[in-house]
Amino acid sequence: MADTCLLIHPEELDTQWLDQLEALRVGALGLHPVGGRRANETLAAMLERFETPAYRALLEDAARRGIEVTCEMHALRYLLPEEALTAHPDWQRVDAQGRRAPDLNLCPSRGEALDCLSDRAAALYARLPGRPRRVAMWLDDGKDAFCHCEKCRNISPSDQQMMILSAMLKGIRRVRPDARLAYLAYFETLPAPTRHDLKEGLYLEFAPYQRDLTRPLWDAACEANRRETAHLSALLDFFGREDATALDYWFDNSLLSGYKKPPKRLTPHADVVRSDKAFYRRLGFQRVESFACYLGADYRALYGPPDLSSFREDG
Ligand SMILES: [Zn+2]
Repeated sequence: MADTCLLIHPEELDTQWLDQLEALRVGALGLHPVGGRRANETLAAMLERFETPAYRALLEDAARRGIEVTCEMHALRYLLPEEALTAHPDWQRVDAQGRRAPDLNLCPSRGEALDCLSDRAAALYARLPGRPRRVAMWLDDGKDAFCHCEKCRNISPSDQQMMILSAMLKGIRRVRPDARLAYLAYFETLPAPTRHDLKEGLYLEFAPYQRDLTRPLWDAACEANRRETAHLSALLDFFGREDATALDYWFDNSLLSGYKKPPKRLTPHADVVRSDKAFYRRLGFQRVESFACYLGADYRALYGPPDLSSFREDG
């Protein structure tokens, strides 16, 4: 039952959501704080929520129902806030224009920056409910988000991500030695990395953000989907199938709503969902997930409960 998962914003979790997950036989819930430039603030707000009795009761209710709770979040800016990068300008990445900038991620060729990241990742992980074995602490969300300094310019974004994740995992494993951390493959990190020496403990999380949701992902006649899946075999060869996770957008009503409330009405393409899930299983993915944000109480008040039936294994 634990091999499907839906990701929602932490503030959207309520008893009705747990009822829906149970009815869909979804075994896991991913808490996903809002990303973007304020991802550090939404992550901090989630951690505060974990300390309140009402929220703890919801998490306990999930556990009673056999629903595993995980966290999937853009964590880099929280782990290395702008103040830390301003205090250590040499930790900042060099952007495509050749300027050092505290805007996104960091320079992965700076050992002290990676050591700091390692410690802070351990502290963050220790605060997550249940300290889940698999955790997704993604880097900053952006299309050109990596370092172009003299040392990094010949290191691909995928390998830069490997260097950063490897440092984070080192810290996390001081808290839980068998923890595994997601390598998020999307935008620039879709091509497979080459750093085999760093892959122990990292698992593939494939997120075809720029896909066409109206066409099956494997549809070779669909240019967007062909592009999104072009590196998939190489990624699976590199990371293997253990914990391999497909994170799709079938029910991502925040995407459909242009990341602006009020939410729009979600009309999932049920045939595409079923066909894509079978495609992922054929490739050997062990877990299939979808974002399902903007489908909380405000959505239900406007449109009634969302139709997620195609996500059921027998749906
Ligand atoms: Zn660099």
